[in-house]
Amino acid sequence: MPLTLPPCDYQPHAYDGPTREEVLRLRQTYLSPAIRLYYANPVMVVEGYMQYVWDETGRRYLDAIGGIVSISVGHCHPKVMESVAAQNERLQHTTTIYLHPTVAEFAKKLVATLPDGLDTVYFTNSGSEANDLAVLMARAFTGNFDIVALRNAYHGGSQGAMGLTSHSTWKHAVPHGFGVHHAMAPDRYRGIWGYDDPDAGANYAADVADVIAQGSCGAVAGFIAEPIQGVGGAVEMPPGYLEAAYGFVREAGGMCIADEVQTGFGRTGDNFWGFENHGVVPDMVTMAKGMGDGAPIAAVVTSRQVSESLATALHFNTFGGNPVSCAQGMATLEVLLDEDYQGRALRLGKQLFAGLRGLQERHPVIGDIRGRGLMSGMELVTDREEKTPAVELTATVHERCKDLGLLIGKGGYFGNVLRIKPPMCLGDADVQYIIDVLDEALG
Ligand code: PMP
Repeated sequence: MPLTLPPCDYQPHAYDGPTREEVLRLRQTYLSPAIRLYYANPVMVVEGYMQYVWDETGRRYLDAIGGIVSISVGHCHPKVMESVAAQNERLQHTTTIYLHPTVAEFAKKLVATLPDGLDTVYFTNSGSEANDLAVLMARAFTGNFDIVALRNAYHGGSQGAMGLTSHSTWKHAVPHGFGVHHAMAPDRYRGIWGYDDPDAGANYAADVADVIAQGSCGAVAGFIAEPIQGVGGAVEMPPGYLEAAYGFVREAGGMCIADEVQTGFGRTGDNFWGFENHGVVPDMVTMAKGMGDGAPIAAVVTSRQVSESLATALHFNTFGGNPVSCAQGMATLEVLLDEDYQGRALRLGKQLFAGLRGLQERHPVIGDIRGRGLMSGMELVTDREEKTPAVELTATVHERCKDLGLLIGKGGYFGNVLRIKPPMCLGDADVQYIIDVLDEALG
């Protein structure tokens, strides 16, 4: 049976720009080689509407990675576009040295989604900046230096965030990560305590206590973890892990930072924030990506008391809190809440996982399926016993999905995890399409 994308009424504009070959040539000539393309035969995306994107020939694709988990309510969502267009017509930039309503109102709306005590916002432009700032505040507030992060984590590419990140593939041989210690990744698929071990969370968390006792002076500035490691391949913290780890960190005087750059804004379905799935309340939350549905906006939210530690010296971010970005962020948040996207992520996530598990029964190459809501990962192995990463096959399946009309992500330390994290506006038929295309590509 041919694979047909679910119908879509939207008519893309006729493309009249430079050819794909010309764009590739320009890119190879003028852009840094560090900026990588996803596919051996790259796709050029020139238009987007909700869960779909179009290439220059007018071919439509289902975008099931949403600009690396950044499109939350849909590409060019009409309500978001209306709000941004109105802001663009009035004022694009002044910085936070003057009053502006949007930045203040957006902060109020964001705080309302978080538990009591997380009530003070600092806007930045990227997740890396937000994580750098969170670490700075943790140090300024506690007077301590050491930070505990996790192996297999990705927290950004700035020199500070690179130190928090724990994948050799993302690191350069430069000084980075001063005072950062990496505890064991609580990975129940590859680690020593598996899914069937009810004590896995407590066992992995004990390593955080060990790292503090043996790798620091005994007092730490903080601990940072993603509730589900995104770039690391959708590795979710085991039950009880964060609660125990937060306990050890707080005993050592540290701040607990939740990196919600991928897991926030309802994506995990059960709760609006990923940490809420673990019954913990962090001292700081960092957010980016889906927050702005494509706009470069990010933030750290913490308590008034902690944020005061940053006010002891001057600190400024030129574009942080920009009115256009804030208008896009605020409209995105309104759509997320008004149209119950979290509920959609829960319902569609269940369908997605049921479909993925069905595939796992048919395709021995699927070693593990994991994640939550619309944040899923599928790890491919050549041998289920040895768990040998099926690196080349993953790249082939990834490229084949694109050729069939489905854009998905790829990640994990070995690059053998397919990541499906679509805009949360997708429908039931799109979920079925994802499963059918994966079935075909894996076959
Ligand atoms: N934290 C997490 C969990 C991320 O996935 C990323 C980006 N992949 C970042 C931080 C860094 O965000 P940015 O690329 O906006 O700096």
